Amino acid sequence: MELDSLYQEVILDHYRSPHHKGLSANKDIQVHHNNPSCGDEVTLNLSMKGGVVTDLTWDGVGCSISMASTSVMSDLLVGKGYKDAMNILNNFVELMQSKGQSVGDESILEDAVAFAGVSKFPARIKCALLGWMAFKDASSQVMQ
Ligand code: ZN
Repeated sequence: MELDSLYQEVILDHYRSPHHKGLSANKDIQVHHNNPSCGDEVTLNLSMKGGVVTDLTWDGVGCSISMASTSVMSDLLVGKGYKDAMNILNNFVELMQSKGQSVGDESILEDAVAFAGVSKFPARIKCALLGWMAFKDASSQVMQ
């Protein structure tokens, strides 16, 4: 697959030096999600206080897209309220469903726009969404 080289750099940086990786002992909930088609796995620990994401850590193994996307997501969502977090998440899901037609809204997605090119590769979309779906699962359980 070919991605814009600047974007590729963002993804490789996060893959090599992932942010918020290493599970915090502090958690309201832990979820484990996997993507069998690629072999990616993510375990995510989440804490929320008053509807705000106070702690979001993860561990996992998998391809560069899945690991980098989870790293970028954790940067974006720590400190966000549930509504804001869901807005960002839905924006990213829309980007992944855009079949290469969208460049993404950088004011909302920041570094996550680097994954725009992934939307052209249906087999990799699940890789990019793995961590995000784990967060959606975890946060919806905490917010119940
Ligand atoms: Zn993958």
